[in-house]
Amino acid sequence: MLTVEDALALVLGKTRKLLPASSALLDALNCTLAEDITADADQPPFDKAMVDGYAVRSTDLAGADRRLRLGETILAGQVPTRPLGLREAAAIMTGAPLPPESDAVVMQERTQQTEGEVVVVDPDVRPGRNLLSKGRICRSGEVVLPAGVLLTPAGLAVLASVGRTCVSVVPRPRLAIVSTGDELVEPDQMPGPGQIRNSNAVMLEAMAMESGAFARNLPIAPDEPAELQRLLRLGLEFDLLLITGGVSVGQRDLVPMVLEQLGVRRVFHKIALKPGKPIWFGIGPERGDGPGTLVFGLPGNPVSGLVGFLLFVKPALHLLAARPGPMPQYRDASLARTFIHRGAVPTYHPARWVEPAAPQQRLGAADPLDWAGSADLLTVAQADGFAVFPAGDRVFEAGEIVRFLPLR
Ligand code: AMP
Ligand code: MG
Repeated sequence: MLTVEDALALVLGKTRKLLPASSALLDALNCTLAEDITADADQPPFDKAMVDGYAVRSTDLAGADRRLRLGETILAGQVPTRPLGLREAAAIMTGAPLPPESDAVVMQERTQQTEGEVVVVDPDVRPGRNLLSKGRICRSGEVVLPAGVLLTPAGLAVLASVGRTCVSVVPRPRLAIVSTGDELVEPDQMPGPGQIRNSNAVMLEAMAMESGAFARNLPIAPDEPAELQRLLRLGLEFDLLLITGGVSVGQRDLVPMVLEQLGVRRVFHKIALKPGKPIWFGIGPERGDGPGTLVFGLPGNPVSGLVGFLLFVKPALHLLAARPGPMPQYRDASLARTFIHRGAVPTYHPARWVEPAAPQQRLGAADPLDWAGSADLLTVAQADGFAVFPAGDRVFEAGEIVRFLPLR
């Protein structure tokens, strides 16, 4: 059976980053920039005061005489009306342009002001003090943000500072979720006999949101080919289609058959993984505006779906959005207690994360929780991630190193 690593390589091998699109400034948050951004002017555009105080000529203050004649006042947003005269000081506020011939600013707090005069107490007024010279941050035409960076709030501010309110980014992936199962009712409904509430949809939608994708929840699909086909066809309009349930070997597990009827080419079905063995992955027919939809059929058991999302869907979304850095990101952990693992496939077991108790302890610890298996979402809701136990029956001693996959 396919390993998790080989399955991930197949998923990533089939995933192409989305074509760049133009985005409004705030919508570009957490998106990958798709163009080099250049400065439209020097920054700052003029020699600029960095404190409230007095613009001076430093040579005037080289000797013992600390008194200067008080000239004009320059507020932020104003421009000086004339160059600074000999032995003159101009009152200046933070952000205002320095007058020509001045070369330093003395802080307000280091002066005394008398009628028409300023006495500079600061003994050491050197050229360049308390000012930012024109073009010190960047020159006009210089690249201020290169293509490929992830846009943060500070990055958006840089865009605003160079006048870019519209920018080319790799767009957020658009993802559709189809929950399948005759037993499902919406969460606001009272389940009848044999029914349960659809809890997977909101979980997967939330995980998609956390991964920076736009998720759209389609109506629940019954285990009946015609309606299932209609809903899955709608899902094939998206960059990624996520289906839960109906991918195993039950009599009413119709998803693989219906997907193949819709022209979705299977890449793999079933991997050596617990929970999540029946995962199905394939590629939809090419769309007019781009490559075929990435289609994931996740098992209906909630923890299987969640693990499948973390291991395969999240890395695919990451790559579609051209986010930097590898995915998924495991860490090493020391096992907090002895744990007996049985099973022929690697197991992702919900665990708490314990930070290293002392600075000399290099690793945090993974504390496996008492877990009732792939339907037990309650335990997973209390976990920080999953401890990974390799295939085979074996006792893992407390302190042994295991891999840990964080939930977020
Ligand atoms: P399936 O993969 O369709 O065989 O479903 C496996 C198990 O997961 C069954 O016990 C289902 O009732 C349950 N299940 C399927 N879909 C959902 C869902 N959307 N929310 C919660 N449980 C589900
Ligand atoms: Mg089902």
